[in-house]
Amino acid sequence: MDIALVGIGKIAVDQHVPAIADSPDWTLAATVSRRGTVDGVAAYTDLGAMLDAHPEVRVVSLCLPPVPRFDYARQAIAAGRHVMLEKPPGATLAECHALAALAAEQRVCLFATWHSRAADMVPAAKAWLADKTLRRLQITWKENVRQWHPGQDWVFEPGGLGVFDPGVNALSILTEILPVPVHLTRARLMFPENRHTPIAASCTFHHPGGAEVGMELDWLEPGAPAWRIEAETEEGTMVLDKGGAEMTVNGTPVARPEGALGEYPTLYAQMARLVKTGGTDMDLSPLRHVADAFLLGERIRVEGFEW
Ligand code: NAP
Repeated sequence: MDIALVGIGKIAVDQHVPAIADSPDWTLAATVSRRGTVDGVAAYTDLGAMLDAHPEVRVVSLCLPPVPRFDYARQAIAAGRHVMLEKPPGATLAECHALAALAAEQRVCLFATWHSRAADMVPAAKAWLADKTLRRLQITWKENVRQWHPGQDWVFEPGGLGVFDPGVNALSILTEILPVPVHLTRARLMFPENRHTPIAASCTFHHPGGAEVGMELDWLEPGAPAWRIEAETEEGTMVLDKGGAEMTVNGTPVARPEGALGEYPTLYAQMARLVKTGGTDMDLSPLRHVADAFLLGERIRVEGFEW
């Protein structure tokens, strides 16, 4: 199937373009971006012009930052195209619900992707936790914003989520692997005095079985990134590491499943299946926790941030 990519920036170049090129399901037919292009692919700066010129493009994959994404998604859906959304699926929950309603009306597929949820060991972690009694779960998501989002000012603008931009990846795994839902009860958000979004955060969640569930996010980690979830249960300890790519149980590594594709190839295979079967895959639970942190969080002013 022919697909178009919109927003040719860091994640489009690092992940989407190679995943589409390697996929048996997709051909990259066009791009829409104000500056970015992909060699050998028809390039547009205006989405409407691309949609008019390429009726054969059935799917539009949006790799823009969250704030501008809604208008592009709305336009693509109104033109009868299936839409794939980078994470987070929108800047607010209400606009995500609006998109889901529009997609249903137009009878097109809408896929809110969560790339970390597609990491190789996430299904194994979910299966392992399914029959265990959880005592404690700790998320540690720490990285250097200067390395992972170099000069991307939008992450510190309203709607850019700040440290919850990577934090929502951890939450997308949490909401997938736990057999019961948790909800946020406390958050401390560290806002640089010259920015609109937090650079670090600490969150606590209520777990229906009484387990302690917490999350530490930090965007000023000077060393190697930590993208880890540790779950202590009555039956042993499971650690999901490297953003879901590695897993141990009681210190012993668990083998990667045969045929595991990695995050973005998995997402594009899922989108191909969704287009074949029809429907919407729009789980907003990771973004709901972020919204709750912004609703309930204590705001602490910290030193200003400069790139
Ligand atoms: P980015 O490089 O800053 O932005 C992607 C592209 O979107 C830009 O190159 C720009 O292309 C276009 N764009 C930016 N602002 C726009 C606006 N206001 N209106 C229209 N187009 C605009 O960001 P990114 O790192 O790729 O992240 C994009 C999305 O992917 C985010 O939601 C992020 O959470 C997610 N993501 C990022 C990473 C990562 O490692 N960076 C990993 C996974 C997921 P033009 O200037 O050419 O129009």
